[in-house]
Amino acid sequence: MRTWIQDIGKKENGEVKIYGWVETRRDHGKIIFIDLRDKTGIAQVVFGTEDKELYQKANKLRNEWVIKIEGTVKKRPKGMENPNLTTGNFEISAKNLEILSEAKTLPIAIDKDGYEINEEARLRYRYLDLRRKRIFKNLKCRHLAFKFIRDWLTNKGFLEVETPILGKSTPEGARDYLVPSRLERGKFYALPQSPQQYKQLLMVAGIERYFQIARCFRDEDTRGDRQPEFTQLDLEMSFVEEHDVLSLVEALFTDLVKKIFPEKQITKIPFPRLDYQEAIKQYNSDKPDLRKNKNNNNELSFVFIVNFPMFEWKKESSYAEASEGKEKRLAGRSLGEGRWDAVHHPFTRIKNEELRIKNRGEFIKYIKENPQELIAHQYDLVCNGYEIGGGSIREHNPEILEAVFEIMGHNKKDIREKFGHLLDAFEYGVPPHGGIALGLDRILMILMNEPNIREVMAFPKTGDGRDLMMGAPSEVDKNQLKELGLEIKSRRKVGTPTEASEKTKR
Ligand code: ASP
Repeated sequence: MRTWIQDIGKKENGEVKIYGWVETRRDHGKIIFIDLRDKTGIAQVVFGTEDKELYQKANKLRNEWVIKIEGTVKKRPKGMENPNLTTGNFEISAKNLEILSEAKTLPIAIDKDGYEINEEARLRYRYLDLRRKRIFKNLKCRHLAFKFIRDWLTNKGFLEVETPILGKSTPEGARDYLVPSRLERGKFYALPQSPQQYKQLLMVAGIERYFQIARCFRDEDTRGDRQPEFTQLDLEMSFVEEHDVLSLVEALFTDLVKKIFPEKQITKIPFPRLDYQEAIKQYNSDKPDLRKNKNNNNELSFVFIVNFPMFEWKKESSYAEASEGKEKRLAGRSLGEGRWDAVHHPFTRIKNEELRIKNRGEFIKYIKENPQELIAHQYDLVCNGYEIGGGSIREHNPEILEAVFEIMGHNKKDIREKFGHLLDAFEYGVPPHGGIALGLDRILMILMNEPNIREVMAFPKTGDGRDLMMGAPSEVDKNQLKELGLEIKSRRKVGTPTEASEKTKR
């Protein structure tokens, strides 16, 4: 049976079999030392000259070779202990060595943090970069945090439900990744920008408390620390008010930090709630950094920003699907060319409750005439100056929801085509509901003191969306295209600007 390296101390004078990678080899003439590494730690293995054949074999070993050792666990001689290793009081006196695979010299060094190495090289050889202690630790913390979240929410009566990856576009303000359908040529699935509509439909289905550690896809031009695909903690609850959602998130994060990141201090619990207008006035930002001491790595200052405006005037349509025709229809507005867009998303409930008391017709008339006046039931969670999540209480009245789509420039036909399923569902007994989505990569980046989200993901892409290790995106076989009824009219080389980035430049 294999012994994990971390456990060798429990087997003093016993025989063990250990497996792993050669971290270093030190040749002291009559004696060879190997530091052997598995995922749990490092052990020193000793080869003497008494067994010539074994000694010769050990002499051939090089860094990163994969080997199996059989030997006896011994206490190290006095004064030879290594306090830097958890196994540092012990060593293995080797009796047998099996070389399982050899390794070329690695193209990147893996013994340090790796920040100093060119990132392209790190990403191209990510499977080696992941051998680095720091990144392994990040992946482990990520796993522990996800497990904690799953257990915590399960205890609170939440059900994790997977929603489709091949679906229909949900507007979250970015461009969709499209997947062509082979069976219905000319039609496309959209990869989810978020599971927004599915989770709302799960509320109609009576699930009441849903969550999902969900992969989301947004096709955006290179912008800072973004990734084309990222992971959200997505959740939705029925029969709740804004404060229910906020208190739940606050309790979850407080417990998560306490349990998995105990070295971190939260500046203030309960997390402050700050009005959007107040945040802009006081900090000139809707994601203020409220840490008392910004040099202290272990301080976490959470703040909820609430009471966002419902709509903002967008000079350019932010939805990829906004056609030129729609732009022209709206061009008559006094604010210049553009359209009203939801600050969060259209499914958000308008807060102006005093107006709702009027009859519905009057309320709808008012919101259509005064979109700039409306406050949304929207909230963001900010930590140390980063927006780490956002959500809202939803509009569950189909007539009002339809009016919101109209304000955003959709005509009736459009609305039916794009959102008919949701409007229909809301006719069959929909509970009032609300939720939030939290960007887990970004949260983990902050919790692990990393400078960007790529450091907490196993296989991130470059800023311009390339997977350097696998070589994606890549060209596909002509026959694959033919089956899909597609033809490539023009190609763009890596690094040349997209139409969208050209437009913003002009
Ligand atoms: N779907 C939203 C987002 O991804 C979050 C929400 O409203 O729950 O930002």
